[in-house]
Amino acid sequence: MLAYLDTERCRMWFLRDQLDDPDVTDDTRCGRCDTCGGIDVPTDVSEAAVVEARERLARPGVVVEPRAMWPTALANLGLDLKGRIRQAAEPGRAVARLTDLGHGQTLRELFAEPTRDTTVPEPLVRAVIEILGDWRPAISEVAGVVVVESMTRPVLTRDLGDGLSRFVRVPVVGRWAVADPTVPPGHGVANSAQRVAAVTRRYQLEGDVPAAPVLLVDDQLVTGWTLTLAARAIREAGATAVLPLVLATRA
Ligand SMILES: [Zn+2]
Repeated sequence: MLAYLDTERCRMWFLRDQLDDPDVTDDTRCGRCDTCGGIDVPTDVSEAAVVEARERLARPGVVVEPRAMWPTALANLGLDLKGRIRQAAEPGRAVARLTDLGHGQTLRELFAEPTRDTTVPEPLVRAVIEILGDWRPAISEVAGVVVVESMTRPVLTRDLGDGLSRFVRVPVVGRWAVADPTVPPGHGVANSAQRVAAVTRRYQLEGDVPAAPVLLVDDQLVTGWTLTLAARAIREAGATAVLPLVLATRA
């Protein structure tokens, strides 16, 4: 890749040569790339873009956009859900992507072994506190915490929920509880409709939700459907908004 950046030859020639294309000769030129003179690529960056990038990098955590649309064909699975998701979650936050540098490394170690279950590691606690500080004013309206129950990491998710409850000074008001443990945790991850059906069977909301914004807590976001369905149930139970917070996102 570094040689591709530095090459003074036609970039298409370079790529085809790397791929052992039998039709490529020393004279092959595409006529369209920058070294062939086909395009002029500016190397300067606007001040506005620099400012925006700097702000993005300084902001703690990753913004997690909520799912907006139900997958198609849910009717075939006996679910009356289609089109735009009403009672969707608000944009949420993750400490980091699993692929990120920095906190991503701590998260990869945390989730590397399927059976590893600990309290939230210290660097992640500090990262979550930073995120909460940056998440005003939305976070100051929150009146309760709902925790997604985990069979594989019960200690981690409970510790995260309890820690947030203490820090934000609102009670844990409910659990997105495993109602049918015969549905495996990762069931249907490869297909959205199957995933929605599996999550619907696996979980139900337990607890008493206030008529106010609620913080929804999970250890990691994989497909987003667990948080989407939990948010919908919490809104149906009377909450005015649902703010998802996870340690890691795979998205
Ligand atoms: Zn070229």
